Amino acid sequence: MKRKLFFSTVVLFALAANAQVKSTFKGQDPITAVSTVTRPVQKQWKGVFDKTGDEVFFGNNFAGARLNGVVKIDETTFSVLITPENTPINGSPWYAFKVWSKTNKEIKIRFDYPQNVKHRYNAKISNDGKKWEASQNGTFVKREKDSNYVLTVKVSKDTTWIAAQELKTSKDIKEWISALKNKNNTAETSIGLTAEGRKIPVFSIGNTSSKNKILISGRNHPPEVTGHYALEAFIESLTADTPLAKKFRKKFEVYVIPLLNPDGVDGGFWRHNSGGIDLNRDYNDFNQPETKAVRDFLKNEIKGENKLLFSIDFHSTHDDIYYTVDPELKGNIPGFVPNWLNKVKDGIPGYTPHVKPLYFKPPTFTLFSYLFETYKTEALVFEIGDSTPKDFIKKKGEVSGEEFMKLILESSKN
Ligand SMILES: [Zn+2]
Repeated sequence: MKRKLFFSTVVLFALAANAQVKSTFKGQDPITAVSTVTRPVQKQWKGVFDKTGDEVFFGNNFAGARLNGVVKIDETTFSVLITPENTPINGSPWYAFKVWSKTNKEIKIRFDYPQNVKHRYNAKISNDGKKWEASQNGTFVKREKDSNYVLTVKVSKDTTWIAAQELKTSKDIKEWISALKNKNNTAETSIGLTAEGRKIPVFSIGNTSSKNKILISGRNHPPEVTGHYALEAFIESLTADTPLAKKFRKKFEVYVIPLLNPDGVDGGFWRHNSGGIDLNRDYNDFNQPETKAVRDFLKNEIKGENKLLFSIDFHSTHDDIYYTVDPELKGNIPGFVPNWLNKVKDGIPGYTPHVKPLYFKPPTFTLFSYLFETYKTEALVFEIGDSTPKDFIKKKGEVSGEEFMKLILESSKN
């Protein structure tokens, strides 16, 4: 009985804590101007960190890696230094590295970030860089004024991969595009090149001669992998062989730009592109090659009678939220976004989304606000929480795609 009481108290406490997190999540503050003129980024040293004795080794020689230093504290404890590409920067300390040892052993890895940077991502572990699991063996250890995230992990001569989120590099995204059915382009089609010469991939779905266009985009910000999973599920519902998707594809064309910042993703960056800039603050001044490429691609496509009806830009943040255009402002299909969000809510029992208007007037800074101002597109930002479970993301992406197709088909009848 006592035990039962204890258990229910713990459950109640957990529920209350969870409810508190939900109700106190307010989303981000209004976006203000920052310079988007190219700034230098710190080059990451790549190789095997071999000043850690002759037992345990760390490496960062792969796309998406971020590891800036390793210090051996004792035989089984190592400190990893994780620093951003440049500063000032949003506090999203991305990390990804490999570790192996001569013999099987359990080690502790202490994460050290620059001052005032808080640990954000619970470690994901993999044996092959493809299949990942969230580690349950991370804890916070108090140290002087701060506390550090410390991960306990079993290592062996086989490589263990440790990362902030599952790795989804430009190569992985190309493979995903290649495997998609019912699309009009190859994984090599692009809207232009980054400063480091990477292609910014684009493909389209549906009827290329339709005047009714839609844009789906993602990965302005490199660590936002959970947002990418929602984009995948959304797009897979649009490319499915269902009667609804077939009907939708006859009437509309959807452009998909799933990887706006390939340099940042492959460079293991926290936030910026290789020009050291947050791309989602540059859709007013267009100083960066990635934002210019988006602008010029759309200028070329959305002309004459073509309309850009709707757009989603996928991101990740601390919790699921939608950032919308001020409901007082009227776009191409007034009321479309709130109607759609209600349908998605009804389609996922027990789910109450956070919705916050984040664009009110120019200047635009962000992609979704640029599209609204330029094309009167019903545009929004679709944010997934850093720790939102993958099966829920998939379900949400699918329901979002299906409800979107139903609603836009209905809206276009009038
Ligand atoms: Zn973002």
